[in-house]
Amino acid sequence: MISLKAGSFLQNNSTSFSGISSFSHSQRKVSAPVVVALNSNGRGGERKFKALMESTLKEIREGASALDMDPKPNPGAGVEDVYGEDRATEDQPVTPWTTSVASGYSLLRDPHHNKGLAFTDKERDAHYVRGLLPPAVVTQELQEKKLMHNLRQYQVPLQRYMALMDLQERNQRLFYKLLIDNVEELLPVVYTPTVGEACQKYGSIFRRPQGLYISLKEKGKILEVLKNWPEKKIQVIVVTDGERILGLGDLGCQGMGIPVGKLALYTALGGVRPSSCLPVTIDVGTNNEELLKDEFYIGIRQKRATGQEYSELLHEFMCAVKQNYGEKVLIQFEDFANHNAFELLAKYRASHLVFNDDIQGTASVVLAGVVAALKLVGGTLAEHTFLFLGAGEAGTGIAELIALEMSKQTKAPIEETRKKIWLVDSKGLIVSSRMESLQHFKKPWAHEHEPLKTLLDAVKAIKPTVLIGSSGVGKTFTKEVVEAMASFNERPVIFALSNPTSQSECTAEQAYTWSKGRAIFASGSPFDPVECNGKVFVPGQANNAYIFPGFGLGLVISGAIRVHDDMLLAASEALAGQVTEDNFDKGLIYPPFCNIRKISAEIAANVASKAYELGLATRLPRPANLVKYAESCMYSPVYRNYR
Ligand code: NAD
Repeated sequence: MISLKAGSFLQNNSTSFSGISSFSHSQRKVSAPVVVALNSNGRGGERKFKALMESTLKEIREGASALDMDPKPNPGAGVEDVYGEDRATEDQPVTPWTTSVASGYSLLRDPHHNKGLAFTDKERDAHYVRGLLPPAVVTQELQEKKLMHNLRQYQVPLQRYMALMDLQERNQRLFYKLLIDNVEELLPVVYTPTVGEACQKYGSIFRRPQGLYISLKEKGKILEVLKNWPEKKIQVIVVTDGERILGLGDLGCQGMGIPVGKLALYTALGGVRPSSCLPVTIDVGTNNEELLKDEFYIGIRQKRATGQEYSELLHEFMCAVKQNYGEKVLIQFEDFANHNAFELLAKYRASHLVFNDDIQGTASVVLAGVVAALKLVGGTLAEHTFLFLGAGEAGTGIAELIALEMSKQTKAPIEETRKKIWLVDSKGLIVSSRMESLQHFKKPWAHEHEPLKTLLDAVKAIKPTVLIGSSGVGKTFTKEVVEAMASFNERPVIFALSNPTSQSECTAEQAYTWSKGRAIFASGSPFDPVECNGKVFVPGQANNAYIFPGFGLGLVISGAIRVHDDMLLAASEALAGQVTEDNFDKGLIYPPFCNIRKISAEIAANVASKAYELGLATRLPRPANLVKYAESCMYSPVYRNYR
């Protein structure tokens, strides 16, 4: 039995069935709605859809009463099934349907179009929602005010996260409006640090799938899986395999919170349309014993696949993405463990539009902070000495971009400029005597020096002007380390990049107190302003969220087909250029997040400009004013009026 929902009308891409619409409107007492979904994803779906619709229309015209008749009584049914739905689905196959133009009850449940109480009276009449909502009509601004008030009632950050995810599933535009207008307050909820906790508990809080899960079970079928995603025009994919989520380690399939969160920021901060964003989690298992034993774990229960099995799945994914979405789709690798991250980037950067945020995005944001900090401490980049704690994706990525920029500024070969940069890993200072045992990405940093075991020893021996923490290990910038930095630097520059907050190398308060208010400090996770010696310091957040949304937008609007390192430098330059004198006066080396849409447009324009200059842009002709063009392309969360 098939019942049509009163007031609904159906449209499948270019195919619309106005007859259904008029039928439905006139048959308001039609039996209870069957909410059904037809898979019309371009694989013969349209034909099936038409055939189904034609037969349904025929059935309807021949007598709607037939719809309420049940051919076979079902003796097993305990409660009388007056609508016939259950019995129909019990003993015969049914066709799943979808209505792609929402109205009535389904409109209120469609997050892309729902406006809640903001539907006007006229819209309520035209779209069959009168009576389905309380009578008040409110503005989007009032809805926003109410939701922010509600969110602030939650004491536990994870509750705020869940409330925001609920909103995203209920009313997409309102979700983005909240995020855009309250970015500084909500960024720590949808992103680090709360998203880390959300991933740890993803199995329990998981409600609806928000992205695509591609596991080993989908091997050989990835193209088909991509086609299951409802949106066809994808411009940005964020993909993780969940092996190194923030500083929290292997969270397997539960890493999905990261691509979902990052793409929410692509839209809110960078203005990329939500419908063109696709979060993906590749599930090859997990080595996290706790998850494997957890009855609520949502991923496949096996140890991580490695070697050929892993690379074959990834390769199939990369090829399928290009085949399905074309050359210009951006694939952002996110939170892969470093043994895979470097390899994947190296393998696909020549054939795909790929970007690793942990390596390249972090590098770009930190370089921007360093360039801005130079205005406070003086000297050129090449006149400074850098020491890193942590020589993984973030550490070596930042180090390489700083060396590249130094090399461009001084015209010295990069092999020379790298010598101004030192790294400490879990085994101590990276020096040439360790060369044999070093992973390949650490080798360029193995300079001549006696071996040193601890960070404090390295600080005392190298005497860096800039100290950068990227080890994922918290509390490693001890009082002694910060005091040592302050003993030979008038203004020590200290970046505590590790996330989430619990893993930060030191707190803002510690950095300012131990350096007696002289440190120029920025961190990965946010810290509140600190009062020290009667002065208020506002710690900057050296967070990739400054860069990747604008960077991605720049690639999208120029139709770039490859990422080039010079584009990362262009992004850093644009970000550093946004720090004002007023910001510097407060000790800030990043502009405030509340201006992020403007910052993203500037970054996008600079990146796009570089893409055109390098001949990597395909969107022609080049717009004359790229900043204006970037702004004009940005998604707006303001409600649309419905006719
Ligand atoms: P990674 O696993 O690639 O690298 C970690 C590195 O730290 C490795 O070289 C490891 O040997 C080293 N290490 C581990 N324990 C150590 C110890 N006790 N002492 C010294 N070194 C040690 O991870 P990653 O991608 O480089 O990320 C590291 C951290 O940086 C994470 O906490 C991540 O959240 C953070 N991060 C922050 C940002 C940001 O925007 N602020 C961006 C990227 C990464």
